[in-house]
Amino acid sequence: MKTYDLAIIGAGPAGMTATTAACAQGASVCLLDEQQTPGGQIYRSLNHCDEQRGAILGEDYLYGKTLIDPLSTIDADQTFGATVWRIDENGHIYFSTHGQAHRIQARHIIIATGALERASPVPGWTLPGVMTVGAAQILIKSSGLITEGAVLAGTGPLLYTVAVQLISAGSPPTAIVDTQQPANYVTAAKYLPSALARAATLKKGLGYLAKIRSAGIPFYRAAGDLTIEGSTAAQALSFSHKGHTVRLQTDNVLLHQGVIPNTQLTRSLRLKHEWNRAQRCFHPQTSDWGISSQSNISIAGDGGGIGGAIAAQAEGHVAALGALQSLSLITTEQRDAGAQPHRQTLKKEAGLRRFLDALYPVPEEVMRPSDHTIICRCEDVTAGEIRSFVKAGCTGPNQTKAFGRCGMGPCQGRYCGTTVTEILAAENKLSHDAVGAYRVRAPIKPITLGELASLTGTGD
Ligand SMILES: Cc1cc2nc3c(=O)[nH]c(=O)nc-3n(C[C@H](O)[C@H](O)[C@H](O)COP(=O)(O)OP(=O)(O)OC[C@H]3O[C@@H](n4cnc5c(N)ncnc54)[C@H](O)[C@@H]3O)c2cc1C
Repeated sequence: MKTYDLAIIGAGPAGMTATTAACAQGASVCLLDEQQTPGGQIYRSLNHCDEQRGAILGEDYLYGKTLIDPLSTIDADQTFGATVWRIDENGHIYFSTHGQAHRIQARHIIIATGALERASPVPGWTLPGVMTVGAAQILIKSSGLITEGAVLAGTGPLLYTVAVQLISAGSPPTAIVDTQQPANYVTAAKYLPSALARAATLKKGLGYLAKIRSAGIPFYRAAGDLTIEGSTAAQALSFSHKGHTVRLQTDNVLLHQGVIPNTQLTRSLRLKHEWNRAQRCFHPQTSDWGISSQSNISIAGDGGGIGGAIAAQAEGHVAALGALQSLSLITTEQRDAGAQPHRQTLKKEAGLRRFLDALYPVPEEVMRPSDHTIICRCEDVTAGEIRSFVKAGCTGPNQTKAFGRCGMGPCQGRYCGTTVTEILAAENKLSHDAVGAYRVRAPIKPITLGELASLTGTGD
């Protein structure tokens, strides 16, 4: 079995910078990612991007080359197409590539597994023809496939980014249905002074909105009660707007309500997590150096709390320095001096994030969907059924599994988990921390028995 000083899971901005920073200090490092190439969500498939696709995806996407290129000059073991499905408390990491399982060991592990799009459970969201905005962007990044004639519904910076990318691709959305409310501007205003440290980013966001406006795309503000109509596939999106019900015919709806940390691995390790009220999600508890409640495990990037790509990059540096110091590979002075510029970046990004969190909150209808809305799409469990479990005495997410198989499908609660916690907290009048989350067990992603068996007799 191969052993390393440091293993890094996830090759997004956080994992890539952590790898480069750790190698620069002479540590033995292993980087694993389930994608075929480095980049993470934001810089996905950048290595295969031609000029035309680059022009569609824009300069923020192309910036990723500054993080990806150094990976080819450093001495780290880098394995792509590697899905990590178990980490144990002794630093063993189990992963699969091409149907073959492997095991390695590291003295310290940085989990940099990023974010997932928050589920947007509205009536009809499971119909064919409905995807997330992020999924439509993945199609562009990985295959150059452009979603045509889509209605984008929800809110948040990624929704506007993808709208602009679709415009640049010559296939503008047919409408944008925004759930952001005017009151959100008032709430966000108090965070504007701290966000101004990132004035260029704010200006870019305003530029996106101007581009959407000048493309003449119908823009419905302060929309609510989103419902996707259709019996076997999406046929229309209806919603309330200025006191009326609007119905838009479409067979392509792209939903978005921000992103939340991907906590499957950190949960499976039983690390301590807490509820973030502003971002309405759980994240693992960490020290200023990204070290979790288990001293040999650190978290960097969006997986530790949503901060965005620039913050993830800075956190990767800080976490690598923190890990190397804890392994006595660098001194405390080296760690502190090395982290200083990245801490300044993090301070500015935190100011911007507070503003964005207040400006684009999750609407009530997504946190507590109507009774007939499906929540667990793997097992077809509705919000009404979850509420009926509560009436029968169910207090926590794990019990919903026994009551009705909620969260027991192939996604293992990744998508429904946060909504289930929201519903149980509201129905039982308990705090989200008191309700908790699904107990996640390895393997965190489906693997075959053949893969499992392939571990034996290989010396791994
Ligand atoms: C679909 C989607 C699209 C986004 N697009 C944009 C965008 O265009 N612009 C923008 O500013 N922000 C975007 N974001 C937000 C953006 O992802 C983050 O701010 C930034 O990428 C976070 O960086 P990170 O390093 O923390 O994680 P990520 O970039 O998400 O990287 C995490 C990496 O971990 C890997 N991973 C996860 N689990 C495992 C596992 N079990 N085994 C092995 N590897 C694993 C993933 O394959 C991924 O490469 C997007 C988010 C999502 C969910």
